[in-house]
Amino acid sequence: MILSQLIKNNGGAVAEKPAVSEATTGKISIRDVGIIYDPEGVHVVAVQNCSLEIPAGEFCVIVGPSGCGKTTLLNAIAGFHGVTSGEIYLDDELLCSSEVTTDPGADRIVVFQNGALFPWNTVLENVIYGPVVQGKMTRPEAREAGHEMLLQMGLSGISHSYPSEISSGMRRRVEIARAMMNDPKVLLLDEPFRAMDALTKTVVQKYLLDVYDASNKTVFFITHDLEEAIFLGTRVYVMTTRPGQIKKVINVDIPRPRDFRVLSSEIYRDLKEEVIEAVHEEAKKAFEAGERERA
Ligand code: ADP
Ligand code: MG
Repeated sequence: MILSQLIKNNGGAVAEKPAVSEATTGKISIRDVGIIYDPEGVHVVAVQNCSLEIPAGEFCVIVGPSGCGKTTLLNAIAGFHGVTSGEIYLDDELLCSSEVTTDPGADRIVVFQNGALFPWNTVLENVIYGPVVQGKMTRPEAREAGHEMLLQMGLSGISHSYPSEISSGMRRRVEIARAMMNDPKVLLLDEPFRAMDALTKTVVQKYLLDVYDASNKTVFFITHDLEEAIFLGTRVYVMTTRPGQIKKVINVDIPRPRDFRVLSSEIYRDLKEEVIEAVHEEAKKAFEAGERERA
């Protein structure tokens, strides 16, 4: 469903969108997953006994020390590699187990840290590429939906620019727009705003929140930025040091739509403290383990 249809179905106004819990697709179940790289050789146990249930339409944020297995888990959901044990389900359909690996598909779109726009195409051409090549929309339909999506992301003025002509913050917004145009069940983002300065980051975060609020997609978002985690997430899942599993789940009880004012609220500060404490405990363990390995 394209954005215009989503908005129409919701009574004609983004502000009147249904609550996130009303999403019906995009439930992810990760059940006792283990992922070992190179079992016969170096044998790196990246993820072990990892379980989480992400309801349809949730903005799920994963945090944890560097090297704890966050990207590994995202790659398994995306279909870039399999799992060694356990299962991952999307809407009760098996995505992967030790025997099954479902290839990447338009139902699970990844926005990469370093970006992947076609440099030879304009912003609009990049955004409409997916639905056109998949035959989901005609070119005129895709152009209309693309313009609307660019409007939603505050990018109308640059639809005919090339990726090299726009700022990195705008490029990241174009990538999110392109991902959403594929109408995925799940949007997977691996530290997408990592290299951005603080000001650009807050702008892009707000656009992502607006698109999320208007669409009800499930979002699986990895970050090392704990403030970002709370600002964006419905739940923040803290992973342990490697082998990664879920150490703590923090419910972010801050109503949507959210804006920068959230950042100065008491509940935000309390939640931040809780997340920082949980992550630092793990980061310290990871650091000490690293020290032991080197000793
Ligand atoms: P994170 O994203 O949390 O920083 P990753 O999922 O990238 O962590 O990596 C988890 C662990 O698996 C790390 O120790 C990393 O070095 C290791 N790892 C990642 N990819 C491979 C690979 N292809 N082969 C062997 N080890 C890997
Ligand atoms: Mg990573």
